[in-house]
Amino acid sequence: MWIEPCKETECFMKGLQKRNPGQPEFHQAVKEFAETVMPFIQENPRYQKAQILERLTEPDRVIIYRVVWQDDKNNVRVNRAWRVQFNNSIGPYKGGLRFHPTVSLSVLKFLGFEQIFKNSLTGLPMGGGKGGSNFNPKGKSDDEVMRFCHSMMTELSRHIGQFTDVPAGDIGVGAREISFLFGQYKRLRNEFTGVLTGKGLPFGGSLIRTEATGYGCVYFCENILNHRNDSIKGKIVAISGSGNVATYAVEKANHLGAKVVTLSDSSGFIHDPDGIDAEKLAWIKELKEKRRGRISEYVNQFPAATFHQDQRPWGVTCDVALPCATQNEISLTDAKTLIANGVSVVCEGANMPTELEGVYAFQENGVLFGPAKAANAGGVAVSGLEQSQNALRLSWSRAEVDEKLQTIMQDIHAKCVKHGESSKSQPVNYVKGANIAGFIKVADAMIGYGAI
Ligand code: NDP
Repeated sequence: MWIEPCKETECFMKGLQKRNPGQPEFHQAVKEFAETVMPFIQENPRYQKAQILERLTEPDRVIIYRVVWQDDKNNVRVNRAWRVQFNNSIGPYKGGLRFHPTVSLSVLKFLGFEQIFKNSLTGLPMGGGKGGSNFNPKGKSDDEVMRFCHSMMTELSRHIGQFTDVPAGDIGVGAREISFLFGQYKRLRNEFTGVLTGKGLPFGGSLIRTEATGYGCVYFCENILNHRNDSIKGKIVAISGSGNVATYAVEKANHLGAKVVTLSDSSGFIHDPDGIDAEKLAWIKELKEKRRGRISEYVNQFPAATFHQDQRPWGVTCDVALPCATQNEISLTDAKTLIANGVSVVCEGANMPTELEGVYAFQENGVLFGPAKAANAGGVAVSGLEQSQNALRLSWSRAEVDEKLQTIMQDIHAKCVKHGESSKSQPVNYVKGANIAGFIKVADAMIGYGAI
């Protein structure tokens, strides 16, 4: 049976849920998108006629495979892995790999779907994809992680390539994992190409790639505030997570004169009313990257701070909130608490960290809300720049890459304003702006190709 075209979001979502049962995260991501894009499609019937939304929500393909590896005691272990190649209309598939026990087809489809429009917003030639495994790197030795990565790449290498699909890191996949994966690809294919991004500097990595998502999120937040003749300087900022995105968001917020008072991990959050300055941040990076420790240890080192077990930081009074941990970490209740405490800007460093009801609450209460596909696009943007440097066989300086990143974040902000500002007196609807701007480029390419 073919997919029945629908003109209304409700009808469209019913069909999508029926075709994709048991995939709540994917449903949530599509609903947020369809709600703002459907009226635009109705105003532009050529998109309706070509059934672009129906086509966009079916991935080009999904690869599911088994990863077998041996632990340090020689036990055989089995994990499941996926690569969702969602849409390559404007460039090779591009999107990270996630290693976490919660990884499922639903999570990867939501992430891959978001990635299509995020990549389009950067203005770079990148399609959308995502992948990962339910492998849990926590508590594993370096050797175990290496054996897992080598085994995973043995299968994945058949499906990726510099002109086909270029994965990167995500939750649980950092410099260590990318190095193991790249090494195995190079060995199997006997070629040294930019098949992964987020690589180490000695083998084709880009300066600023590690920092890019966190920095980009703060640049986007600064653009939002500048549009209101304000700035992040002097603002109190609450950040969740303590991984790659969170730590570099702290670094850039500090550079721009803000005071960051929280960080978290899956065991709880720390509140440091004095602010997490450069020295404290260096200690956290060492804790997380080298010792792979827990954020709760922060209060032993810095006793003025407090640790709040199994809680999220959204009860702490702040001007700016940057959720940088994972999906659905700001509920409607959390959003109401943030609003009651006077938050004025929320920018998503993580992917879909705010539940839909929370997004509506922010918008209804005039909170400027920067959605993930715009606010955290800095990471993939610098991944795109890493691909360009690999193709050119040269490396740009830190200053050059940072300048390009700032320009890309400014451009994304301008696109959101173009499609999301109804009048100067109303707050910009960044969700609508990002969705429509990201959609147009991909949809126009699809129409150009005909019915494929
Ligand atoms: P990391 O693995 O470096 O860090 C993830 C952080 O989030 C850790 O502090 C982790 O705590 C916490 N976390 C993960 N899962 C949960 C959970 N279920 N509940 C509470 N806390 C959790 O990942 P990244 O910093 O790279 O990614 C963070 C977010 O940013 C993700 O949504 C990712 O998709 C998004 N993103 C990342 C990009 C990148 O370049 N890295 C690019 C664009 C988006 P713990 O250690 O306890 O698990």
